[in-house]
Amino acid sequence: MNEFDTHTFRLAVAQFDEAAERMGLDHNLRERLKSPQRSLVVSVPVRMDDGSVRVFPGYRVQHDSSRGPSKGGIRYHPAVNLGEVAALAMWMTWKCALADLPYGGAKGGVAVAPETLSRAELQRLTRRYAAEIFPLIGPDKDVPAPDVGTDGQVMAWVMDTYSQQVGYAVPGVVTGKPLSIGGSLGREEATGRGVADVTLAAMRELSLDVATATVAVQGFGNVGSHTARILAEAGARIVAVSDKTGGVYDAKGLDIPALLHRHGVERRPLRECRMGEAITNDELLALDCTVLVPAALSEQITQANAAKVRCRILAEGANGPTTLEADRVLADKGIFVIPDILANSGGVIVSYFEWVQDAQRFFWSADDIRHRLHEIVTASFQRTLEFARSRKVTMRMAALMNGIDRVAQAHLARGLYP
Ligand code: NAD
Repeated sequence: MNEFDTHTFRLAVAQFDEAAERMGLDHNLRERLKSPQRSLVVSVPVRMDDGSVRVFPGYRVQHDSSRGPSKGGIRYHPAVNLGEVAALAMWMTWKCALADLPYGGAKGGVAVAPETLSRAELQRLTRRYAAEIFPLIGPDKDVPAPDVGTDGQVMAWVMDTYSQQVGYAVPGVVTGKPLSIGGSLGREEATGRGVADVTLAAMRELSLDVATATVAVQGFGNVGSHTARILAEAGARIVAVSDKTGGVYDAKGLDIPALLHRHGVERRPLRECRMGEAITNDELLALDCTVLVPAALSEQITQANAAKVRCRILAEGANGPTTLEADRVLADKGIFVIPDILANSGGVIVSYFEWVQDAQRFFWSADDIRHRLHEIVTASFQRTLEFARSRKVTMRMAALMNGIDRVAQAHLARGLYP
């Protein structure tokens, strides 16, 4: 398994091992589920605007497809590697199973800093990457979606490249695409809305009043910004948000719509938005607040800083933001953790709605989508909470054990081929 051996992959496997041990999972199944079903490594040559050619490494990993087509985002980030993509694919498997979606898990990525490319270069990179992974993807095989560094436009180029190869429009090959080509209402905000829904459910459970709650959000991209906006709309005070340049802090509460405009529309780094006091990402994670939402990259809360975390609820918008060692420290401190595969499952849930709408050629209203998302994600939260209490395990273990069990049942029912 050396080709996958990175920090992030070791974290995903360590979580799996702990859950499998507690479940008494069959040894043969354990071996299979620890490594992905299928991995593709590609080289993506791109003609740059100056006429030169640069080659970027790209990946697509399908962890498991026993319950249906695999599903997972495409990440553009310089640190993308095979091990990280494999870890994210494994988490997608448990996440889809936990929400009981008929999907397996996958992930893809290209090691590139997208902000350094022109729009034309980004389009050429995306189309060539899509062409390279073409044999693996398709509405019944593997369905990509946006992740860090990619968005609806990137999905539109993937959809068009795939459709050009087969000769007709195939909207269901990706989710998170624009409405004009079969996207879904509510998909863009879906992950943040799901994070907000489960955070509010946890606050009710812990008898915390939203009107006096304070929230700090690390990462102000798709997930972080919608989470902040929706929690602010629910009455919470958002005291800090950050991006990779650092963050801003105001104990009285930040004006989120104004920040969304300056950062999202005017494209200014948060530090240059002239609001609140400047704060580093490390300081943000250590703020005394009701809710902390890591919504950037993995392994942000580690043994080194876990003792300094002072929130009541940790709602993991990002995938894998907390290491195993940090988890133990948070548990000792009595912090209520809503684990990633539950907290950020709103994205794949609404992706599932989009895929269903594409297949039916029949589109739902925004209200329908919000309502159905709320039902699935809060039911999933309640089931996980009850399981955690009855089995005396953490919310993370409860979520993993439930997800893994559904996948194990599918493998046992299907049997081993040949
Ligand atoms: P994004 O690219 O839209 O935003 C990422 C944000 O994180 C940006 O604000 C960026 O500046 C910030 N960031 C990057 N490096 C940072 C650092 N070192 N410190 C602090 N901030 C940093 O990405 P996204 O789609 O919002 O994804 C964020 C996380 O949520 C990822 O872990 C992703 O896998 C996870 N996630 C995303 C979705 C989705 O639907 N987009 C669904 C589930 C989970």
